[in-house]
Amino acid sequence: MKPDLLEILRCPVCLGELTLVARKTEGTEVVTGTLTCAPCHVDYPIEDGIPDLLPPDERE
Ligand SMILES: [Zn+2]
Repeated sequence: MKPDLLEILRCPVCLGELTLVARKTEGTEVVTGTLTCAPCHVDYPIEDGIPDLLPPDERE
């Protein structure tokens, strides 16, 4: 995902803004990392460039 996406991505639980932590990047794309919601204390993973914004209680 591109870091610009952060401007439109919101936490699915509280609809707050997310903080991006990139672990692996290719050019401007974040391949692996996490999106963190500070108020919820939840990390949403980014895998293969795709942010997984499922609420924690909907994960298996
Ligand atoms: Zn939240």
